[in-house]
Amino acid sequence: MKFTAFNFDSRLQEGIEASGYEEATPVQEQVIPLVLEGRDVIASAQTGTGKTAAFLLPLINNILASPINHHSITALVIVPTRELAIQIAQHMEGLSYFTSVSSIAVYGGGDGNAFVQEKKALSAGADVVICTPGKMIAHINMGYVKFQGLKYLILDEADRMLDMGFYDDIMRIINALPAKRQNLLFSATMPHKIREMARKILHHPAEISISISKPNDKIKQLAYVVYDTQKIPLVKYILHQKTFDSVLIFCSSKISVKQLTRDLKRTSLKVDEIHSDLEQDKREEVLMYFKSGRINVLVATDILSRGIDIDNIGLVLNYDVPHDGEDYVHRIGRTARAAAEGTAITFISVKEQRKFMAIEKLLGKSVQKEKVPEQFGEAPEYNPGAPAHRSGSGAGRGNGGGKPKQFNRRPPARKQD
Ligand code: AMP
Repeated sequence: MKFTAFNFDSRLQEGIEASGYEEATPVQEQVIPLVLEGRDVIASAQTGTGKTAAFLLPLINNILASPINHHSITALVIVPTRELAIQIAQHMEGLSYFTSVSSIAVYGGGDGNAFVQEKKALSAGADVVICTPGKMIAHINMGYVKFQGLKYLILDEADRMLDMGFYDDIMRIINALPAKRQNLLFSATMPHKIREMARKILHHPAEISISISKPNDKIKQLAYVVYDTQKIPLVKYILHQKTFDSVLIFCSSKISVKQLTRDLKRTSLKVDEIHSDLEQDKREEVLMYFKSGRINVLVATDILSRGIDIDNIGLVLNYDVPHDGEDYVHRIGRTARAAAEGTAITFISVKEQRKFMAIEKLLGKSVQKEKVPEQFGEAPEYNPGAPAHRSGSGAGRGNGGGKPKQFNRRPPARKQD
């Protein structure tokens, strides 16, 4: 379906064309008419489906079409992370470029100057505010935020926000909003707790499911079964075997991100790292360098696994097996975006084998295991059913009776991530 079929305001249509969009994606095709009709919507859709424009476009169009209170915030978009807030704000800027619709991103980690700007916008009114929960609460507590003319609330990546412990903050923000408003909720997954929250917030919502809980077919998925000590040499080998445009390496902890980055920096590769220990400015700078190609290998924690939109990532390398299937899909979904093809490689250590087996179950297929090159010595067999391969119960690491640890349990993500 062509965007022209929506009959958007011509200034908005100009922004759509300037962004290079012609055909609406499935989520856009379904969500846009509902939002234009004034319906509440709950949509199960991940990053990469075009969900951001699915809510921004009808929002901008409605703001252009109807009288609004210029001394209030008209639409509030709540998101889990600073990076996502910035990205949506950039998206918004592009689409609304030829209109007079104003927007601002409000997120933690900025300097005093950013705070003053935010305060100014929140007290004078802005059409669209994109915020992280904690920072918005800080502003609300100071008493100047103008919500009296608010018409739209959008919760993006709602499942991630609940995982990060933002439920109470979100409900506090919502309590400060006018009761009569249109609500949109986007979530990659729809666990029970999201449905509960939706029941409290949405009014007779239309429900949409764009399920891509399975990875995109264009991603070539491979895995290496390795000993921990083989991981670093193998990363170097892979990165020197073939030139990928950009490589994103995910590690499960900040410590391994730092260690691996240190090691890779000793090679000829242009490498940097991103994790929650870095100041916001530094994180933005690293992301910008990565997007522009000044750095072509980025080592990251899961901070980047969702919501971040970087084109042309040729390879996603899971240095550690992700916590669960959802994380795996999110991580490898950073490659093969738009039309490009991509490769995703996962390293599976002995104690991660069962965790990986659970992921393969979710995928409904086994991932091709590559042979570890001989120069790295003998590699372990992939035998996740074997008792020695149970996570936490490997040789010499008894865990009280050899009971397997519970898998698929995600530790709550830290708020600053
Ligand atoms: P999102 O799922 O919102 O993160 O969007 C993923 C990527 O798709 C972003 O780079 C968008 O700019 C792009 N995109 C969104 N909608 C369209 C469209 N209709 N046609 C082409 N690209 C799009």
